[in-house]
Amino acid sequence: MIVTLWGTRGSLATPGPDTARYGGNTSCVSVHGREGTVLILDAGTGIRPMAARLAPALRRVDILLTHLHMDHIQGLGFFDPLFRPDLEVHIWGPASTQLTLQARLMRYLSPPLFPVYIRELPCHLHLHEVGEAEIDIGEFRVSAARVCHPGPTVGFRIRDAQAKVLTYLPDHEPALGALTFPVLPRAWTSGAILAEESDLLIHDSQYSAHEYHDRVGWGHSSMRHTLDFGSLVDAKHVVPFHHDPAHSDVDLDRLLSEAIEQAKPAFRVTPAREGATFRL
Ligand SMILES: [Zn+2]
Ligand SMILES: [Zn+2]
Repeated sequence: MIVTLWGTRGSLATPGPDTARYGGNTSCVSVHGREGTVLILDAGTGIRPMAARLAPALRRVDILLTHLHMDHIQGLGFFDPLFRPDLEVHIWGPASTQLTLQARLMRYLSPPLFPVYIRELPCHLHLHEVGEAEIDIGEFRVSAARVCHPGPTVGFRIRDAQAKVLTYLPDHEPALGALTFPVLPRAWTSGAILAEESDLLIHDSQYSAHEYHDRVGWGHSSMRHTLDFGSLVDAKHVVPFHHDPAHSDVDLDRLLSEAIEQAKPAFRVTPAREGATFRL
């Protein structure tokens, strides 16, 4: 599979000279399989440039939403394939006990926040709610599970026919409630079963250790947590993701080198940079 990062920023799009290297668009990752299956992970502002690269002959695309915070859905209304009548679009998102996925997406895809109602979109739209699930999409086996983050949120583990594994946990606080992290066995840690022995693990690393101290329960990890989580699950390659809007490229370089010096990870670490591609 080919994994491309189109948006790496958390919380709010942050374009500008200070973020030009790692990127200012919010969460969006594409996964292209050898047999032509296309998955899009989250629909942040990075989804707009991603859409421009889709093959015109494509007939189906699947968007997997981890959750419905604005930074993960804001690009949806500007995703051109939704306006193509020849295209089948499947949107998978977390189940909720309170409202359907359609009703929750409608809060954004309807006036006054957006001029078009979801029911007016010309594509063939199919919505699917997921909790704990194993789903076959084209050549991929997708496992979903709920993870620690405010509101209904899932993470995704994507395995291809060659048994290569990508795990996507963009908003995740596995350290919540632990005095020292990680202390629990792997099976009791949020997201760990999804992430175990991943060839590529894309993981939330929004904060410095100092910032995390003041933001416990906000649903995110520090850079150090990301590396410790990668060790806990025996990941082979970790991509720190969902950069804080307040962090410049220079800040990110510093946070990463400090965390690597402390954690001494046994795996490869590549900070998420808009436009980066990984071949598994
Ligand atoms: Zn987010
Ligand atoms: Zn979130």
